[in-house]
Amino acid sequence: MPDVFADLVGQDEAVDTLRRAAASAAALLRAAATRHAATRPAARAEPDELDALAEAGEEPAGTGREPGAGMTHAWIFTGPPGSGRSVAARAFAAALQCARGTGCGECPGCHTTMTGTHADVRLVVPEGLSIGVNEMRALVLRAASTPSGGRWQVVVIEDADRLTEAAGNALLKAIEEPPPRTVFLLCTPSTHPDDISVTIRSRCRVVPLRQPPADAVAEVLVRRDGIAPDVASWAAAAAQGHVGRARRLARDPEARQRRDAVLAVPRRLTGVGAAFDAASALIEAAEAEAAASVTEVDEAERTALQTALGAGGTGRGAAGAMRGAAGQLKDLEKRQKSRATRTQRDALDRALVDLAGFYRDALTMALRAPVAPVHTDTAALAEAGAQKWDAEGALRRLEAVLECRAAIEANVKPRIAVEAMMLALWRG
Ligand SMILES: [Zn+2]
Repeated sequence: MPDVFADLVGQDEAVDTLRRAAASAAALLRAAATRHAATRPAARAEPDELDALAEAGEEPAGTGREPGAGMTHAWIFTGPPGSGRSVAARAFAAALQCARGTGCGECPGCHTTMTGTHADVRLVVPEGLSIGVNEMRALVLRAASTPSGGRWQVVVIEDADRLTEAAGNALLKAIEEPPPRTVFLLCTPSTHPDDISVTIRSRCRVVPLRQPPADAVAEVLVRRDGIAPDVASWAAAAAQGHVGRARRLARDPEARQRRDAVLAVPRRLTGVGAAFDAASALIEAAEAEAAASVTEVDEAERTALQTALGAGGTGRGAAGAMRGAAGQLKDLEKRQKSRATRTQRDALDRALVDLAGFYRDALTMALRAPVAPVHTDTAALAEAGAQKWDAEGALRRLEAVLECRAAIEANVKPRIAVEAMMLALWRG
């Protein structure tokens, strides 16, 4: 049976660090339990009295055991999208809860963490564009409680770069004065101050993940998902190191169709009108893709809330209850709208990454660089572009796509940014 780190593709160094930290964490718990038993043999070890991590710093060096070495209470996982930041954080959380202290993948601690049902592991996945302060305060409060499983309270914050400033401050306070058994695992694209505040960064250990090589991604698609080797290597290259995206491309014909439509863009840019048409098509495709992925969830949430509120009730108090219910439904709709916006942006960004890959191929071909193309299926078209545009022309186009991504990230209206990009791609 593969252990909890098996899904981390091409990240040997990070996995090594995390294994060592998990072993230290397990040693800390054992050391604390032994100390406790020695001082108060009759009492059961109370986790909140152990102060495991705080005491770790006081261990004299060179005693041979040094149980604290390698473990700390706040971590940041960095890396490009799809490199497995949240996979790494979850795997580490499982290893911390593992009965064997290794992340064996078999014990209840590992299993419940990996399936998202462990009582002492909280996972924050922001659904809107940011994580708000109320959510963070509630989380920090719960994270300070004693771990019910007797090991660690683990808080995983995916997309920690989407914390609001106030939420970041609430988190910082918890990280500055950490409860003894609480571990924070943050995921961000980088440690740049735009992604995570300098003060939070200074209190965390950083685990950098790299963009996994295409052959490592292909290997995992074959081994774990049973995908045919030729499809797996095509999808791994086309997804540019994004494991989840590679799997979707290999399995989902609709994802492949959407990608084909994006890669048809360079061919279709024959004039100003065509450039605007291409912009509309790209935006609408992102909207449709986002709608397809959220509609079902939206509906299920709405039904669940209505059931919980007892919709359709009559009699005394029903009118007042209905007024409260209307407020809750409104809140839900607001959250759903914010999630839809984010899903749309993510879909558009994926399309832009595909498009950037095409112009990158044209650029490397114009430079005769010995690099494998990102999109093997449009290599001939990229070669034609390379001949027509030369390296400079290909580079200008690649930059136009990257500028469009940056503009949308900086909150320029997507349609405006995409139209400007299409015009730049057409004019060259
Ligand atoms: Zn285990």
